[in-house]
Amino acid sequence: MAKDQRTIIVGGGIVGVCAAYELARRGRDVLLLEQNAIGSGASFGNAGIIAIGHPPLPRPGLAIKVLRWMIDGSSPLYIPPRFDPEMIRWFWIFHRSCTAERFQLCMKVLADLGRLSQDCFERILADESIDCEYHRDGWMEVFRTEAGFETGRHEAGIVRNNGFEATELSRAELLDREPAFQDDVVGAVLYNDSAFTDPMRLLSEIASAAQRHGASMREQCSVDEIVVRGNTCVGVRTVGGEFIGGGTLVLAAGIWSTKLAKLIGIDVPMQAGKGYHRNVRRPKVCLGVASVFAEEHVAATPMADMLRLAGTVEFSGINNKMVQRRLDMMSQSARTYLRGMEQQEVISEWCGLRPCTADGLPVIGWAPNVGGVYIATGHARMGLSLAPGTGEIIAKQLCGEEAPMDISSMCVARFSRRKRKTRDQLVAM
Ligand SMILES: Cc1cc2nc3c(=O)[nH]c(=O)nc-3n(C[C@H](O)[C@H](O)[C@H](O)COP(=O)(O)OP(=O)(O)OC[C@H]3O[C@@H](n4cnc5c(N)ncnc54)[C@H](O)[C@@H]3O)c2cc1C
Repeated sequence: MAKDQRTIIVGGGIVGVCAAYELARRGRDVLLLEQNAIGSGASFGNAGIIAIGHPPLPRPGLAIKVLRWMIDGSSPLYIPPRFDPEMIRWFWIFHRSCTAERFQLCMKVLADLGRLSQDCFERILADESIDCEYHRDGWMEVFRTEAGFETGRHEAGIVRNNGFEATELSRAELLDREPAFQDDVVGAVLYNDSAFTDPMRLLSEIASAAQRHGASMREQCSVDEIVVRGNTCVGVRTVGGEFIGGGTLVLAAGIWSTKLAKLIGIDVPMQAGKGYHRNVRRPKVCLGVASVFAEEHVAATPMADMLRLAGTVEFSGINNKMVQRRLDMMSQSARTYLRGMEQQEVISEWCGLRPCTADGLPVIGWAPNVGGVYIATGHARMGLSLAPGTGEIIAKQLCGEEAPMDISSMCVARFSRRKRKTRDQLVAM
């Protein structure tokens, strides 16, 4: 790409904003288009945990468990039964990805992307003097049952094998450190290398920094069409019919990327993993470090004057319908694990759509068959954690440099339905 050619980024979530920042600081002409307000998608209200080296969703043996969860509305992962060929296809890829071999591959790739992201976080925070309640204290997974703790120890071992620190805390050590927990917890694992933050403050600060470096951003600007001439993308058309020209297009539109990619014949199968948050007034004795209630899969993150409860994964399509019972489940979990949560003054509630691929890895790379289109999405439950590294990869590749890590297994073409896959590609899926 020539240096003076404009790059259009579609999507003002954390991925698009990090890409805009990295490109702008390299002197590129960047225009980011966002259909609503910057940061109004999944990036707005996530749990704020920067979970470095964390395992992917597909794991050996999980496919069967998911089938049981499908019919249980109180499970952490809920899939209302419905006939949807795309959902069935997604689940089939997920089922095939729940192997030990695939899990190892995903762990390696996510660990590399996590390390890269961590380095980028540190650089961006320092270079731009960003203040966003960024705490380098790790995050904790807390257990109420011995069986849960045993599973947690196993998972901590996997994370350690990939080069990260994970410290086991006995019940006494946990309560000594975090008196906010109820007496009947059995222990915790502290993931020391990780961090937590206020995700929207972080995103806004990076967006401002990108603008200081010269990036332009347009809100309320919905892209309706990707304009291709010959075999190359030359720009986009907005819902209002305006043509915006550009030399390269970065598609970072979260869950909406599937629909936009389809417009140019590219297959990026994803499902929206709806999650919720409920912000409650900070209790008198509050957690000092972001924690996940392991048996309930609910996160609790202290932020300024509140405690954010976040969690659940619900595959119910692309919509913002909130199910009261699932919000209440998070409050109930908080009461079970934490003291002083009987009266929770609710400040706000929200839901967002995680862009979930079925095979455990994001989609990062040049689009096949159409020149000038780069796709970056599918970070599922880890988009905040992995966005800065993704932005760095995008910027390097668009500037004609080598990607800073092996990104071949995150390529866009892996989902292509047209070509027959080789045996190696099937293993990699
Ligand atoms: C409850 C919950 C908790 C989570 N907790 C964590 C966590 O602790 N740590 C973590 O790492 N991750 C977490 N995640 C996941 C994380 O939030 C996502 O992976 C991440 O936000 C995805 O970022 P994104 O930029 O790809 O997508 P989004 O943030 O969804 O951004 C995509 C943007 O594209 C815009 N867009 C779409 N279509 C168009 C169009 N046609 N034209 C213009 N703009 C368009 C949308 O409006 C949107 O703003 C959580 C998610 C949820 C829901």
